[in-house]
Amino acid sequence: MDVLRVLADQRCVVCDARGAVLCVACRRALPWLRGPVCTRCGEPDPHDRLRCTLCERLGGAIGTARSAIAHDGVGGPIVRAWKDAARTPVADLAAACIIAAVARPAADCLVPVPAARARAAWRGVDGPSALADLLGRAWGLPVRRDVLERVRDRPQRGLTAAQRRRNAAGAIAARGVIRGRVVLIDDVLTTGATVRAAAHHLRGAGAERVDVVTFARVATIT
Ligand SMILES: [Zn+2]
Ligand SMILES: [Zn+2]
Repeated sequence: MDVLRVLADQRCVVCDARGAVLCVACRRALPWLRGPVCTRCGEPDPHDRLRCTLCERLGGAIGTARSAIAHDGVGGPIVRAWKDAARTPVADLAAACIIAAVARPAADCLVPVPAARARAAWRGVDGPSALADLLGRAWGLPVRRDVLERVRDRPQRGLTAAQRRRNAAGAIAARGVIRGRVVLIDDVLTTGATVRAAAHHLRGAGAERVDVVTFARVATIT
């Protein structure tokens, strides 16, 4: 056991208080996505469902999308701690939040969004993959990693929406065949370009339906 890591994990990832990966005060401050949400994309309080911006961005290959918390308040530091350091208890925390907030999907399997290879190797952590394993165990669903792969790593930052979509579509590829209802698992839903591309490839590989579950999401309605 890595002693340094265990000690590090005894501090709150948000405020650094001793004791747990998330202290009681920060746990109380979790920005849960509660209340009325768009039935399709899960955006909170959609004032006009006909023009829900996230629904538009997700495209036609995705059924529904759900997330546990907003990427706001303590949500941001939790996601950063998870992405930037190999802090596996954060994956446990993320899974626990999803299980508490998102109903078990009617699905045949879970598929994690494949991590950018360079990033996963450098940080030694693959958030979506770890999250899919934990959710698969809790929901009694198999995890398939053999269908999607990253074929190209190019950052999305600084691109227009159309460029992002093209970039994301070319960054992921499908190999082999998948059947039934698939739930894509990712850590954060940001622009939707990555899950949109992944869902498109899964549908092309034979999936009947693709839904999306993420730990956090960046609010699109301001
Ligand atoms: Zn705290
Ligand atoms: Zn929507």
